Order: sequence, then structure tokens, then C-alpha cells
Amino acid sequence: MKKIYIETYGCQMNEYDTEIVKAILKKENYHFAATPEEADVLFLNTCSVRENAHQKVQQRISVLKQLKRNNKKMVLGVLGCMAQNLKKDLLEKNVGVDLVAGPDSYKKLPAMLQHVSEENAKEFSLTLSEYETYSDIFPEHTPGVNAWIAVMRGCDNFCTFCVVPYTRGRERSRAPQSVVEEAKKLAAQGFKQITLLGQNVNSYRYESADFADLINLVSEVDGIERIRFTSPHPKDFPEKLLQVVAENPKACAHIHLPLQAGSDRILDLMSRTYTQKEFINLALRMRETIPGLALTTDVIVGFPTETEEEFQQTLDVLRTVEFDAAFMFKYSERQHTIASRKFPDDVSEEEKTSRIVRLVDLQQAISLKRNRKHIGETFEVMVEGKGKKSNQLLGRTDGNKVTVFPDNGAKDGALVTVKIKDVTSGTLIGEAV
Ligand code: SF4
Repeated sequence: MKKIYIETYGCQMNEYDTEIVKAILKKENYHFAATPEEADVLFLNTCSVRENAHQKVQQRISVLKQLKRNNKKMVLGVLGCMAQNLKKDLLEKNVGVDLVAGPDSYKKLPAMLQHVSEENAKEFSLTLSEYETYSDIFPEHTPGVNAWIAVMRGCDNFCTFCVVPYTRGRERSRAPQSVVEEAKKLAAQGFKQITLLGQNVNSYRYESADFADLINLVSEVDGIERIRFTSPHPKDFPEKLLQVVAENPKACAHIHLPLQAGSDRILDLMSRTYTQKEFINLALRMRETIPGLALTTDVIVGFPTETEEEFQQTLDVLRTVEFDAAFMFKYSERQHTIASRKFPDDVSEEEKTSRIVRLVDLQQAISLKRNRKHIGETFEVMVEGKGKKSNQLLGRTDGNKVTVFPDNGAKDGALVTVKIKDVTSGTLIGEAV
């Protein structure tokens, strides 16, 4: 009976993939180790979105391969986007790494592991598939209130800074019925909330069903009380989806809408296929259509050739739209991306740092201002567990806002009505009423 230990880096899609890998190996009688030291097989499910993600994994590989001194039969494998991006280099440059598998190769893992253990061979599988959606695998979901469901895989958008189209391949969607079946099983396991995942959920298509239809189908599953999704692309956000979020009581009033940059010239170099004006109009239309909508975004500073004036345009969009929160990053050149081939990474690290500091300062002030409007309001908060303070519970509003309140004995997954007494830029503080 072999034991496996998986460390997951990066996005929710990777967390979901780890749950798929666990389900595939559990069927082969693998069990899960609580620590790397106890494991016979160690997997790192990796991210390739920024350079520091690569460095983190390289450091971890050098630590973990020490464990092989105590367990000569231990297998060390690298999965995910970094595996797909660096391919055989990972094997050749890292003595101690026995196996490399990309995001579409996980069904081959049992055979690959057998070959590594029996033949003491190195194994790699890096073929991207146009069809694989793992819809025949019920993932080993991590216990909690929320469960991820990947409804599609891959991305055809080729934003010039992004490595995902090269590491996750072409877009393909799962049959709505397979998503509904998974949601039913999750409800039976006690999950109350589902987050539907896709690199660009607007592109979800299966025969005549689009993403708005899928949300409505999943919302018919008894026991599931909240449905979230990430990420849509601003280029093709359909009115129909907006109406579903506005009208379907289970669809949460939170939309994550990645802006990336505020200048039209930079948006064009990024191949984002929308202009600043189009983005702002869409964001304001969303706020108009969905009362109490929480809007969040992603922003990159220091994209090649971005000037100070163009960075100022990013700040202008933040001031105009007033996002509730944002994920903010310095541009990190990624191997194999279009930008790495076409544009010199010419904005200095100092300048990138100066811009990210100013961006974060502005966004925190905006988040605080938006949260202050909630003081005195009451929200339905879905409990996720204990807060930092022992006598506190933590949960999220429909708008995905983290909320803490004194522990009133409510269980995980319960909906508690909370009156907001105070706020920070990142948290609502209240009392159960
Ligand atoms: S939409 Fe663009 S940024 Fe998002 S995963 Fe696809 S290529 Fe990357």
C-alpha cells in the first residue's frame, strides 16, 4: 500500500487538478500521507504564471530530494504548468526528479509510477489534449464549505503575457450533465457552495448550452446554496450571464473581472481585445444590473514599454470603477509567451516596485471606502470556520467579502445574519443578529 503526498502551487484550477490526481491514484490503492517524510510518492503540482513560482518549486525540489536518502524507493514527480512549460528540462536539470507530467496526462500516472518503481526509469508525459476534461473522474474534494468544479479546460485567448494557453492547451468544455452530477455528489457530501472554474468561463459551450445555462442547471441541485465562478473575460461577457447573476438567487453577486491594464496601447500589446472605455462601460453596466455587486479584478504593472502616463491610466480606471478588491502583480516575463518573444522586459524592477506600491495604496483606500458603506448593513454570511481570534467565526458574504463575528455556535456552511459594526480594507467585522 503506497502512500502519496501532493503539494499544490498556484490557482484554483491546480487545486482541482490535485483532487483529480488523488482520485485517480486512490482507485489504484494509493493512500495519502500526512507529511512528505511518510510518503513513497511525492508530487509537486506546479504553477508557471510568474518567475517566483518557478523559483519556489526549484527550492522545494532541492529540499525534498534529500528525503530520498532515507527512502531510496521514493518517487519525486513534478506535475502541472511548470512541468508542461519546462518539459524534459525539468528531468535533465534536476537529478532526483523521476517523473514529469503535464495537466492533461494525469490518467497516465498509475502506469508511469509503476514503470518508475519497477524499472527505476525516468518518466514524462507532456501531450496536451483537445478532449480531456476528466469529467469521468469524481475528484477527491478537499473537505470544507466550498468545492471547485472545473467546467472547462484550456484557453484560446493568447494574452501575450500569459503562459496558460501553452501549459493547458485549447479550450474544451464538459457536458453540463457531468457538472450537475458532480454537484449532486458534492451536495450529498455536505458542500454548500460550488465555484465553477474555467480560464475564461464565458467561452464555455457544450452543444447549445452556454455558461449562463450551466449556472441555472447547477442551481437546481438541492443542498447547494451558493454558486460562484472564476474567471470571465471582459471581451465577451454576455448580457444573458449578467441577467442570471442578477436573477438567480443562488448565483452570488460577485464578479471577478480581470482588467490587467488601463491604457489602450498596453491592452492592445497584451492582446486583451477590449479598450479602457469598453471595460469601464461593462463594469458600470454590471453594477447597474446587479444591486450590491462586489467587483474584483487583476492588474499587471510594468508591462513592456508601459510609460508612467499609461500607468496613471490604470490608476484612473481603479478610481472610476472602484473595485472592491484586486490582485495586483508586477509584470514577470514568462518563457514561450508571445510577449517574451516580441517585447523587451524594459520597465526596471525599481519602477515596477514603485508602481505596484502606488497601485496597492490606491486600491486599499478604495476597498476601505467601499467596505465603510457596509457599516450598519446586515448580510447573510456563510460560515467557513474559526476566525483568527478563538472566540470568532469567519465566513463570506454573497459578495465574497470575508466577515468575522463573535462565535454563536453556528456550524460550517450555516448562513448567519450578521450586522456590520466595523471594517478594514479586507474584512467586515460584525455581530450575529
Ligand atoms: S484569458 Fe488570457 S490571461 Fe486568462 S488564462 Fe487565457 S491567455 Fe491567460
